[in-house]
Amino acid sequence: MQASTYKPTENPMLTGSLGRCPRCQKGHLFRGFLTLAPRCEVCGLDYSFADPADGPAFFAMTIVAVPALGFALWLQLTYEPPIWVHLLTTLPLTLAACLLLLRPLKGWLVCSQYFHKAAEGSIDYEWHARAKRDRDVGKS
Ligand SMILES: [Zn+2]
Repeated sequence: MQASTYKPTENPMLTGSLGRCPRCQKGHLFRGFLTLAPRCEVCGLDYSFADPADGPAFFAMTIVAVPALGFALWLQLTYEPPIWVHLLTTLPLTLAACLLLLRPLKGWLVCSQYFHKAAEGSIDYEWHARAKRDRDVGKS
């Protein structure tokens, strides 16, 4: 099927959170828990453009930090438990919340890269050549 027959996502947050392909919204984005598939099995979109780097981890930690700290403070101030209680409650809850958020956040960032056509910066040599030609024409 031609790429133009697909209707790309208009909601990268929803499509990515569901782990769907940003172009056809039917294929899977992930091969494992956090490993991206090489390409969409439905439309063939090559996922090599996707590079969310540390973005999902940053957002997961940022989102989870305040509630986790609030829980730890509430637990400590209410029950004054020994530190091992925090190791058995606060720490696993914080880790689980971060891990649960990683996949939808990574899907969202990958779909946003596709939606916004985000790519690594590069020099547009043709644009510079045209600009130089226009400047030279203006001088003469
Ligand atoms: Zn697809």
